[in-house]
Amino acid sequence: MTSIQKALKSHFGFEKFRSQQQEDVVNAVVKGDRDVFVCMPTGAGKSLCYQLPAVLANGITLVVSPLIALIQDQVDQLQARNIPACSINSKLPAQERRSILEDLERDSPCLKLLYVTPEMLASPSFQPCLSSLSARGLVSRLAVDEAHCEDVVRSLNLRHPLSFSTPVFRSNLRYDVIFRDVLPDAYTHLHAFIKKALGDGPAGQGCGIVYCRTRDGCEEVAHRLTRLGVSARPYHAGLKTADRTEAQSDWMQGKVSAIVATISFGMGVDKPDVRFVAHWNLAKSLASYYQESGRAGRDGLPASCRTYYSSQDRDQIGFLIRKEIARIQKKRGSEKEQDRVAVTDFEAMVAFCEQEACRHATISQFFGDGRPDCAGACDFCRDPRVVRAQLEAAARLSTR
Ligand code: ADP
Ligand code: MG
Ligand code: ZN
Repeated sequence: MTSIQKALKSHFGFEKFRSQQQEDVVNAVVKGDRDVFVCMPTGAGKSLCYQLPAVLANGITLVVSPLIALIQDQVDQLQARNIPACSINSKLPAQERRSILEDLERDSPCLKLLYVTPEMLASPSFQPCLSSLSARGLVSRLAVDEAHCEDVVRSLNLRHPLSFSTPVFRSNLRYDVIFRDVLPDAYTHLHAFIKKALGDGPAGQGCGIVYCRTRDGCEEVAHRLTRLGVSARPYHAGLKTADRTEAQSDWMQGKVSAIVATISFGMGVDKPDVRFVAHWNLAKSLASYYQESGRAGRDGLPASCRTYYSSQDRDQIGFLIRKEIARIQKKRGSEKEQDRVAVTDFEAMVAFCEQEACRHATISQFFGDGRPDCAGACDFCRDPRVVRAQLEAAARLSTR
């Protein structure tokens, strides 16, 4: 057993690496002669790729991660494993911040992983701490987590990075798009979809997620599904924490078949037997859609990903995105090229729904992969006439 494998067991309690790729990445990071770029699906175990090398290194690994909630989750998990980790953020009580800074000022700090948000990293208040650490040679590595795969390589100025990416295409996921406006009864339609998707797994097992944009939407859909005979629970920020936790754990334990949630649900959730992910409303970008729908079928068994599309949704969400951009620009007092990204990403999502082409191919090509062999794993490849007929029905409806 190598010292790396020993550390995997002794510090993290894992018997083996999750995949050959995870092991390769860890080895490359530990070796440390090249920058490393990793693009793997949610749940693949990317955190370990910097956490394990961090434990083995002299000095501190600085981790940049965008969300305080995600950071807190990771820090809690690390601390539970007795790995010295903490985060400096704007919400930290002064006392805790002071004791962290005290540790950082010592010749050899105890801390192994220091998590910060991008805002904190850029903030003037953090600069002295950062320069002092780096001047004393105490920053062993910089990890950027949850970085969006599109232009991060460019913005980080990585030097000839070693790149590890899992292919985007997942052949066990079946994608389709249903135009909600042309359905006589959308809830019955959703119900039938769920029943069928659950039928793919071992009897009486499996579950899924229905994503809705609003809290009211979650409540309504969960209520309707329950009435139609599917056990469903809403999950959104408007619920009491205890109710939310209960809904999640009931779902995790397989006590409810469907969790009907806003997109706040699912980050860090790692459940292998998710048989379906339905989007009752349009995702805000094709990248988010890939990530959200990708929570299905982690066990490698067939799973279904469906978007219910409506022109009203498209207009509403498009409007909200433009409004949000305008708000940011007003606050900032200037426009930036990258502001357009949110709009183009959303347009890619809309095009995905309105196209007559392979859904898998669109997703793969969006992320820069080649055209995969869909082999009937999307509605278009299964029967292009169905997709055409649906588009025609929607067009007739909108001109009426
Ligand atoms: P990602 O960031 O790629 O979405 P995470 O780093 O959050 O994934 O890891 C997902 C889950 O997998 C976590 O619960 C983590 O503890 C677990 N995990 C990571 N590596 C291993 C491993 N080698 N063996 C078992 N579980 C692992
Ligand atoms: Mg992660
Ligand atoms: Zn296809």
